[in-house]
Amino acid sequence: MKIHELHKNAKVPDNHVAIKFKDRVYTYGEVDTLIDKYASFFQSIGVKKGDRVALSFPNCPEYIFSFMGASKAGAIVVPLNMMLILEEIAYIIIESGANTIVIHPLIAQKIDKSQLGRLNLKNVVVLDENTINAILKMGPSQHVEIEPDEVCTYIYTSGTTGKPKGAMLTHNNFIADVKALDDVSDLGPEDNFLCVLPLFHSFSWTVNILLGFYLGSAITIKESFMPKDTLEILTKEDVTVFCGVPSMFAVLMRMVEKGQFKALRLAISGGAPLAPEIQRGFEEKFNFPLVEGYGLSEAAPVALLNPLEPDAIRKPGSVGLPLPCVEAKIVDENDNELPVGEVGELVLRGPNIMVGYHNMPEETAKTLRGGWLHTGDLAKKDEDGYFYIVDRLKDMIILGGFNVYPREVEDALLEHPDVLEVAVIGVGDPLKGEEVKAFVVLKEGAKADKKELQNFLKNKLASYKIPKIFEFVPELPKNAAGKIQKKLLK
Ligand code: ATP
Repeated sequence: MKIHELHKNAKVPDNHVAIKFKDRVYTYGEVDTLIDKYASFFQSIGVKKGDRVALSFPNCPEYIFSFMGASKAGAIVVPLNMMLILEEIAYIIIESGANTIVIHPLIAQKIDKSQLGRLNLKNVVVLDENTINAILKMGPSQHVEIEPDEVCTYIYTSGTTGKPKGAMLTHNNFIADVKALDDVSDLGPEDNFLCVLPLFHSFSWTVNILLGFYLGSAITIKESFMPKDTLEILTKEDVTVFCGVPSMFAVLMRMVEKGQFKALRLAISGGAPLAPEIQRGFEEKFNFPLVEGYGLSEAAPVALLNPLEPDAIRKPGSVGLPLPCVEAKIVDENDNELPVGEVGELVLRGPNIMVGYHNMPEETAKTLRGGWLHTGDLAKKDEDGYFYIVDRLKDMIILGGFNVYPREVEDALLEHPDVLEVAVIGVGDPLKGEEVKAFVVLKEGAKADKKELQNFLKNKLASYKIPKIFEFVPELPKNAAGKIQKKLLK
């Protein structure tokens, strides 16, 4: 199977709802036809097997048709984060060797299209009404032979830790992840996924779109996460599955005293650490399971997940158990496996793991050494086999020979009733090498200051972990996937 065929897997009737977007509903029959018309369109502009096609879109159905159509035409799709500025787009276009870019009219307004001219692109397509109408008139596409183990996309990691790297993922990589998610869930054609996370990110792409298509479910697409709208949809519409990043659940929880969702039966949090009190608070308020998982683009992306059944054991603060297709272990710097409870690097193996980074043989060899994906995340495992992400290896602060994991300090600070959001980083210190610094966003009207917060931490953390420097800020810089950008804070 290939990703552009997933929508045929569940064999739902042609009139079964596949996508809802604004007032428009697309059935599975229409999706099948549209994917073929888009494939035909790409062929008509000269896109050949193996060509790279970059896409820059906000969330909308045309993004899905473009992705799947290009894939059916044999192209390798390069999704672009729609927040990127022209220079960043240029970097990825050149690095990936894309010869075609398709952009949504809203993006076309934002960037200077003439500047794309210097990038040697064969096609710059603005997917406006005229182009869409032309695509709708296309005849059937020509069959292209594609093997499931061929690369179908380069996902450029958003670079919260450095320059973007293109993770090369095959059809099989995604399908292995989708099948594993299906194995651990009881979702099916009667489900309806609410998709507010950006589709260019692998979390949303795999868990909302590929899994939704594979199951024959409905997918309700929103352009972005608007807290009020989302709450309204969850309370009034028949959505049953909602995937989000932790900050979304924190916002929803703050907005209501007590809530009742209409049909929701599964909420999944991933992409960043979900503070245990947000999980507990959300579940108490909404009487509803909020399940944390862990993934990364290089793993297509989900690797670990707490059990989904309502009565199963979900451990707050844990990212759960490896998916059925995934092997996970914790290793030291020499790649020796560490015993239960010890902190080391999380490494992963399985059919969902990328084949490598595009054009980066050294990075690939380093990251995939010994046949295991080195995630760059520090983690530990408990005696029941549940994993806990401690922090990113690169974010660890080394202070006079001691290791400080920013996440531990952040979790402790978040327990203070005045603290809304927090990010802890290491800053250079001439004596100790690094010093702990906290950026704090206070809740509206809250007055806690440095002294108060330091005192609060005294009976929670060893003194060397307590931040010496505090900066109170109105908000923290986040990327389009909702992750705090520590690179910018540094
Ligand atoms: P880069 O890898 O270049 O820094 P990125 O963070 O955008 O960019 P992604 O593939 O989007 O890369 O995100 C994967 C990372 O997100 C993981 O390596 C991990 O650090 C973090 N992450 C994902 N889920 C969780 C979670 N549940 N708890 C803590 N961290 C998580």
